[in-house]
Parts: sequence; C-alpha cells; structure tokens
Amino acid sequence: MKITVDTGSCVSSGQCVLLAPEAFDQNEDDGTVVLLAEEPPAGAEEAVRQAELTCPAAAIRLSGA
Ligand code: SF4
Repeated sequence: MKITVDTGSCVSSGQCVLLAPEAFDQNEDDGTVVLLAEEPPAGAEEAVRQAELTCPAAAIRLSGA
C-alpha cells in the first residue's frame, strides 16, 4: 500500500494524526498534513485506511494492495 496526500486539499482537521500518528503529522505552521511514511509502518495499515475514510477533505489516497 502506498500513501499519498494532497496538502492543497487538506483542511488541517488532524483526524489522520489522531488515527494513525505512525504515518501522519501536521505542519507546525498551518496544520496541514505531513506524510511521515509513504508506506504504512507495520501494523498501521488499518489505521491508515481509517484515516483515508475519515479525512473530511478526501486528501489521503491509498494505492496498491
Ligand atoms: S484528516 Fe485530512 S484534512 Fe485532516 S489533517 Fe489529515 S489530511 Fe488534512
């Protein structure tokens, strides 16, 4: 699974960071998403899927298996 984020769409809600802090952080200045890992760390796949589903801006995209 490969993760991509669209910082231009991100509305800085922080949902992804709450759900999957292993993969996402927020920019200190404007709160937009910062991708920490292009692939989910071991054990974080389900949390990353939840983050994709929960993101209010549909700014998280997952591709691959
Ligand atoms: S959940 Fe979506 S809108 Fe919220 S910070 Fe993460 S990427 Fe941005």
